[in-house]
Amino acid sequence: MRLSLIVPCCNEQENVEPMFARIKEVFENDIPEIIFVDDGSSDGTLSRLKSLYTENPTVRLISFTRNFGKEAAILAGLRAARGDLICIIDGDLQQDPAVALEMSTMLEKDDSLDVVAAYQKSRREGLIHRFCKTCFYKMGKHLCDLDLEPHASDFRVFRRHVAQAILSDPECERFSKGIFAWAGFKTAYIPYDVKERNAGKSKWKTSSLTRYALDGIFSFSEKPLRFPLTLSIICFLASVITLILTIAWDAGAVLEILLPLSLVMFSLIFFTLWVLGRYAALALREAKRRPVYVIREFLDR
Ligand code: UDP
Ligand code: MG
Repeated sequence: MRLSLIVPCCNEQENVEPMFARIKEVFENDIPEIIFVDDGSSDGTLSRLKSLYTENPTVRLISFTRNFGKEAAILAGLRAARGDLICIIDGDLQQDPAVALEMSTMLEKDDSLDVVAAYQKSRREGLIHRFCKTCFYKMGKHLCDLDLEPHASDFRVFRRHVAQAILSDPECERFSKGIFAWAGFKTAYIPYDVKERNAGKSKWKTSSLTRYALDGIFSFSEKPLRFPLTLSIICFLASVITLILTIAWDAGAVLEILLPLSLVMFSLIFFTLWVLGRYAALALREAKRRPVYVIREFLDR
């Protein structure tokens, strides 16, 4: 079966050539179609990708006008992919193409499987990142009812009909892991060793990762919208208890307790407003239907 590799790249000038070399080494005589998506790199990534395109017939190259994010690059790659099997793989060599080969072989051998995804055996991240991600998956599982594999990323191989299902989701604000889980195809998970980045730095900051994760939850769950109702029930019960205590006990003492309590309630109300704001922003972005990315150049044959 013909395989397409989608490789999103943002400022990976020192990685694209080693990445291509590693793909050649792993796949030997059966080099897959490789769709590099340059996501608005500001270094020499694009010119190096252009050289790879000129020298290698299996390389195709999409370049964006500016940085639109990894999700946009994945979407562009999915739209362009022509393979029977499609793989999303990072361009920094943290995800070994040998694992991509292993995953595609599994799909070739087992007709009942639609997707094979790789999950990290152990995470190469700081304590805070790891803690936040664990909280995110726990929250995601509880709020979204989606079967999100905690240590799996976008690194996966899937069949063409899976790509079509993913593309049929018209959302602009995309959270691929959620979309894959929502689509519900039969998925097998295999462990892999995440490598050190070949060169350069991760593009994710804690703030951008948090925003991405929360928007992922908001776009797949309406449960946080129940929060104001829960809050109103708590407030009502609190007001009844306060009334009883004021009559039966000491009004002054009740007031002393009430002041800090009402400040807590205020913070919860503002939190609720923030949640509603996130939903409104998400709905606005979807309503505008702005394209997810803009292509400056598509080098293809
Ligand atoms: N990437 C991208 N656009 C972005 C951020 C990242 O195309 O805005 C690419 C990046 O070049 C890499 C992959 O997505 O190939 C994963 O990014 P990164 O290594 O920064 O993420 P991490 O491995 O730290 O999760
Ligand atoms: Mg990386």
